Amino acid sequence: MFNKKTVDNISVSGKRVLVRCDFNVPMKDGAISDETRIITALRTIKKLIEDGGKVILCSHLKKPKGPDPTATLAPIAERLSVYLETDVKFLDDDNVVSDAVRAEVSKMKDGDVILLQNTRFRHEETKNGESFSKDLASICDIYVNDAFGTAHRKHCSTAGVTEFIKETAVGYLIEKEIKYLSRVVNNPISPVAAILGGAKVSDKINVINNLLEKVDILIIGGGMAFTFLKAQGYEIGNSIIEEEKIDFAKQMIEKAEEKGVKFLLPVDIVAAKEFKNDTEFKNVDIDAIPADYLGLDIGEKTQELFADVLKDAETIVWNGPMGVFEMPNFAKGTMAVARALAGSTATTVVGGGDSAAALTKIGLASKISHVSTGGGASLEFLEGTALPGIMVIGDKVTRKRVVAANWKMNMTPPEAVQFIHSIKGLLNYEDNEVIFCVPAMSITAAVKAVSDTDISVGAQNMHFLDSGAYTGEISADMILDAGAKYVILGHSERREYPGETNDVVNKKVLKAIEKGLIPIVCIGEKLEQREQGVTIELIRLQTKVAFQNVTAEQAKNVIIAYEPVWAIGTGKTATTEQAEEVCSAIRRVIREMYGANTSDAIRILYGGSVNGGNANELFSMRNIDGGLVGGAGIKPEFEQIVNCESRKEG
Ligand code: ADP
Ligand code: MG
Repeated sequence: MFNKKTVDNISVSGKRVLVRCDFNVPMKDGAISDETRIITALRTIKKLIEDGGKVILCSHLKKPKGPDPTATLAPIAERLSVYLETDVKFLDDDNVVSDAVRAEVSKMKDGDVILLQNTRFRHEETKNGESFSKDLASICDIYVNDAFGTAHRKHCSTAGVTEFIKETAVGYLIEKEIKYLSRVVNNPISPVAAILGGAKVSDKINVINNLLEKVDILIIGGGMAFTFLKAQGYEIGNSIIEEEKIDFAKQMIEKAEEKGVKFLLPVDIVAAKEFKNDTEFKNVDIDAIPADYLGLDIGEKTQELFADVLKDAETIVWNGPMGVFEMPNFAKGTMAVARALAGSTATTVVGGGDSAAALTKIGLASKISHVSTGGGASLEFLEGTALPGIMVIGDKVTRKRVVAANWKMNMTPPEAVQFIHSIKGLLNYEDNEVIFCVPAMSITAAVKAVSDTDISVGAQNMHFLDSGAYTGEISADMILDAGAKYVILGHSERREYPGETNDVVNKKVLKAIEKGLIPIVCIGEKLEQREQGVTIELIRLQTKVAFQNVTAEQAKNVIIAYEPVWAIGTGKTATTEQAEEVCSAIRRVIREMYGANTSDAIRILYGGSVNGGNANELFSMRNIDGGLVGGAGIKPEFEQIVNCESRKEG
């Protein structure tokens, strides 16, 4: 699972965001000849502009060894301005970052976009030198890497800079690249087929070796097939061959056999007299390659064979052309494979620079699930190598699931003990924070009953003062003394009957935090409020007031429980989508108040008639981190709720 922070997990409003893009586009006579890399960068940039960031873009272009006017990013700024429909200011400075650049950045307004000069104008860039990394870090608060094509490089602008920046994320392009490439390498849907081609075996040794561990079918075409054919004893004429890789080819054929991988080589080829388009050529079987000919494409029978085998696959990855596709006479094999992928219902992923170019040339790129924008990077990913430009990005916070039972005014101390003894051995409290919120009178007994487990006990209410003439109330210290660690605050039944207000809830939250109790803060709307359409506004208000004067660090540990008051004991039920909608709105308010670090960490529970039947679906929602369980919390079915195996997407 991809667990790096993305631009969806950070809040950039008013912040300076440095975005490393891959604007290394092909150029011809000073003009951009293919804008794909500019276009695939737009989604992330637009998102950051919309969110009110001050967007500072950077990239390399070509391989200059220092300042070089032929590698200026000026043409990129021009195209970006058109696509973004906003002025992208180009800061043409040979030092990339300088005092003049800093001055420009300090003048930026929210939503402004600037583009820095080619990062390779700085000699430190490719050596990952600290001085340039520090310069880049000095002009930003947040760093976003979206340059997939350079993610396999450990340079200042792709890796080093992150050592000096606190908040980092990847952009949508890298997120998408990893998502699709992962579908091939990690838990793919089988049958999985890989088709490899291109000129040389030596370029793809680790790809072949790694994919043999993952795939059901491995097809080899292109120039590299001849080393394999030779390994099998065929005479290959003047075809391209790497003698020193023949042993490796033999090993791979054996490995395929051991692993039960279906391994396919061409059965016929297009043999040509010379390595050029206009030459004599003919389709021959592999046991009839003339000694003075060389193979430049797969043959017609092979095209059919490959296409036929691919029909069975659910996942297909393709890297490397089947022939010298740059020459029209030898492009047919590559076209046939491109058509087979385009017509397939499988997840289809294409990696490698020339393969992607071939697809674009044939006009079938849009029919492929994912065409990688990074040649080298996609190959390293398929080799199973971790990409440094992605490794350096901060991880998404994983929130431990909380399942809290609210026993309300039920269960005497002996009943509490009996219930806990009957169920505690069945509960998975390794992967869940399990809490019994019991009546005050039963806390001591419950604490004792759970003492040989990691299960915790909570109270259901407390006063916001330490002591005094408040008949019937209990204080935070009393709860702590009894051994409880959590306290439910602002439960809807308390808002309803004793008339607890938002302000009182806030005072209680502050006191609980001061004393070291973890508050489970309840919020929720009533039926008439939902019907008036003010749910979200009300939820926002309740959250904001409850968290007044709570710091970002403190807020991370607070637990919020959303209870649709209208759906409790009324027979009406909130749908999973309604529950998720409100929980995600709560997380948004927390993010507005405290930023992404807090909103990523805080647990938000759902608390409207959670039971053994619906827990799994509810807990699998992105913003629902567990449940506050009422009635089912004193029944054997509590086991099903705690132990359900919800899985969250991406
Ligand atoms: P990718 O960039 O997709 O990873 P490669 O760079 O490995 O692909 O290989 C592409 C090159 O392989 C193309 O330039 C193509 O002309 C060459 N090639 C393919 N088949 C043959 C062949 N039979 N003989 C010589 N070169 C070939
Ligand atoms: Mg290539």
